Amino acid sequence: MTKITPQPGIMDIALYQGGQSHVAGVEHVIKLSSNENPFGPSPKAIEAVRDSAATLHRYPSTDHASLRNAVGARHGLDPARIICGVGSDEVLQFIAQAYAGPGDEVVYTEHGFSMYPIIARMAGATPVMVAERERKVDVDAILAAVNAQTRIVFVTNPGNPTSTMISQQELERLAQGLPDSCLMVIDGAYAEFVDGFDGGASLVDAHENVVMTRTFSKVYGLGGMRVGWGYAHQSIIDVLNRVRQPFNLSLTALAAAEAAVNDVDFLSFCQAENARLRVWLSDELAKIGVPSDPSFTNFILARFADQAEAEACDDYLKSQGLIVRRVAGYNLPNALRITVGDEEACRRVVAAITAFKEGAA
Ligand SMILES: *Cc1c(COP(=O)(O)O)cnc(C)c1O
Repeated sequence: MTKITPQPGIMDIALYQGGQSHVAGVEHVIKLSSNENPFGPSPKAIEAVRDSAATLHRYPSTDHASLRNAVGARHGLDPARIICGVGSDEVLQFIAQAYAGPGDEVVYTEHGFSMYPIIARMAGATPVMVAERERKVDVDAILAAVNAQTRIVFVTNPGNPTSTMISQQELERLAQGLPDSCLMVIDGAYAEFVDGFDGGASLVDAHENVVMTRTFSKVYGLGGMRVGWGYAHQSIIDVLNRVRQPFNLSLTALAAAEAAVNDVDFLSFCQAENARLRVWLSDELAKIGVPSDPSFTNFILARFADQAEAEACDDYLKSQGLIVRRVAGYNLPNALRITVGDEEACRRVVAAITAFKEGAA
C-alpha cells in the first residue's frame, strides 16, 4: 500500500459531471445540456482566434490589461478591480483557495452550482448546504447557517439549474446580514440574460466583502475558450492575484474574449432571441402539462410528475436526438434542465415532449 496520501478532503470530492454531447446510434443531435449559446461565438471572436494563430510562440499578457479595460469599459467598472480566470470556475477557485481552509465552512444553496462544494473541498474547507424555498435562494436560511467558521457564501443569481432569481433587495439583505469576516460571492454566470441586472456590481461597490463573478461561457458562446472574470474590492483582487498563475489565460483566449465583449450587436441579438424563445418554450410546455418557473437565464427547468416521468421523457428526447440535462444530482429529481436553443431546436423540443406526453415513448 502506498504511503503517499492526498490532503484531507481531496478524496471526498465527487467529480464534476458535464453535460452529455453524444447519443449512441443517433446522428445530428442537438445539445441542450450545457447552456451553450446556440448561435455560437461572435464572428469577431472567431476572427480574433484566427488572427492569434500567427503569434502563438509569444507568451500571453500576464496582467490581462487589454481584456480588463474592455470589460471595464463595457460594464462601467474600474479595470483595476477586475481579475480574469480560466473560466469563472478558476476565479471561484481562487476565492476558495485564498479565503477558506481546514476548519472553515463554505455555504452554498441546495440547488446551487455543483462546483461550489468541489472547490470548497479542494481548499480543505467544509461545504455546508442550505435549503432553498420553492427553487429559490432563501436568504433567511443562509443567514441562519452562517457562523463564526463561515468564510464564504456562494449564491448564483439567477440560479442554475433553477433559472429563478432573487431581488436586489434580497441580495442587499444578505450582504447586510453577513459578518465582515465572511465573503459573499454572487455568481452572475447568467446575469446578461436579465434585462437591467448589473450582476451584483453595485453591491460589490457598497460592500468590501462582496465579490461578483462573470463568464464568457454562456451568452458570449465561448465555453470552449475558458474565460471568466471577477470584480471585487481592490484588497480582495490583490489577494486573488497572488494565487493566480501569471499565464493562466492563453493569448487566443484573451483575444477571443476581448473581441466578444466589444461586439455589442451580436450580444444584443443573442439576448433578444433568448428572451423571446425562453418564454415561448416555457408557455408551450405549460400548455401540455409541463410547468416551469419564469426563467431569467438561457434555460428552463421543466417539471414532471415525478422522477420516473422525467427520466422517461429524457430517454425519449435522446432517442429523438435531443440532449437535455437530468438534475437529480441538484436535488431536483422530477425536473429536466433544457437550454434555450435556436427556434428550430425549441420547436423540436416542444414537438418531442408533446409526442412523449401523448404516449409515444
Ligand atoms: C456555467 C456556469 C459558470 C461558468 O463557468 P465557466 O468556468 O466560466 O465556464 C459559473 N457558474 C455557474 C452557476 C454556471 O452555470
